[in-house]
Amino acid sequence: MAIIIDGKATAQIIRDEIAEKVLELRKNGHKIPHLAAVLVGNDGASQTYVNGKVNDCRQVGFESTLKKFDAGISEAELLKVVEELNEDPEIDGYIVQLPLPEHISTQKVTEKINPEKDVDGFHPVNVGRMVKNLPAFISATPFGIMQLLQRYKIETEGKHCVVIGRSDIVGTPMAILMSRKTYPGNCTVTVCHSRTKNIGEISKEADIVIAALGKAGFLRGDMVKEGAVVIDVGITRVQDASKKSGYALKGDVNFEEVEPKAGYITPVPGGVGPMTRAALLLNTLLAAQKKSY
Ligand code: NAP
Repeated sequence: MAIIIDGKATAQIIRDEIAEKVLELRKNGHKIPHLAAVLVGNDGASQTYVNGKVNDCRQVGFESTLKKFDAGISEAELLKVVEELNEDPEIDGYIVQLPLPEHISTQKVTEKINPEKDVDGFHPVNVGRMVKNLPAFISATPFGIMQLLQRYKIETEGKHCVVIGRSDIVGTPMAILMSRKTYPGNCTVTVCHSRTKNIGEISKEADIVIAALGKAGFLRGDMVKEGAVVIDVGITRVQDASKKSGYALKGDVNFEEVEPKAGYITPVPGGVGPMTRAALLLNTLLAAQKKSY
């Protein structure tokens, strides 16, 4: 039986810690951290994510601004919005919710964001600084996972960590962070992706498995070794008639099979997801305190 890594409870602890810091800032007459979110279009999932982020800000006492634009906004107009946010001294950090409509270049927008306000950690400057182990904004999901490993005091030095997935926002930064010469880190890292052969043979050798591929139930019981630490990043909607919504959220790990073998495991929901949101708040606090540069 594995120890369940409770992301929901850990995220609440982080929010409480941040709320306390905000009270202290207020008491001492300092500026209250201010996060802005830019939302383009009417995508339901994006709206839900952004609303969640704004609500989180309210909960901890941050200022927040939501800037909503029609899906028809031009690239030039959106770049102008980004420039204004870069120059607005009120805003400590901001995010541009992805995905953007097809006529807008995500790369151009991301690169226009002032790296010092890039609390999503997507700007190449922040990615580069992370690789060099310099202070940087680390994208929220990997940052949240690092917080979980740290707060559960999970040993990582000398361990074999297998990351499944190599996306810009999860797999690749995760692999870099786990191999850095620090804690959590100092792992020997293997990255698996859609072209990797015999993933099960590789993951079975891992002390730590981070599954971030977006295929519900991919990691089966026979693909992990006894006592492994299993971090499940995946979130996939699967039809479930027993739910009011008609669907259930499933991770990349077959929890029923893997949990009895694992040493530690994150559930879905209630594992990495809440930590991603908490990590954005941590980044915003760092931005306000100018601690990431
Ligand atoms: P992504 O951009 O689609 O990347 C998926 C990665 O997995 C790619 O590198 C892909 O390989 C690899 N992959 C796909 N199928 C595979 C297979 N059968 N075997 C091995 N590797 C495979 O996805 P993402 O943005 O990283 O997200 C991954 C999952 O995490 C999704 O379910 C997403 O919803 C979830 N997510 C959760 C959170 C959270 O807060 N909990 C945050 C972000 C994402 P190639 O590079 O070869 O294509």
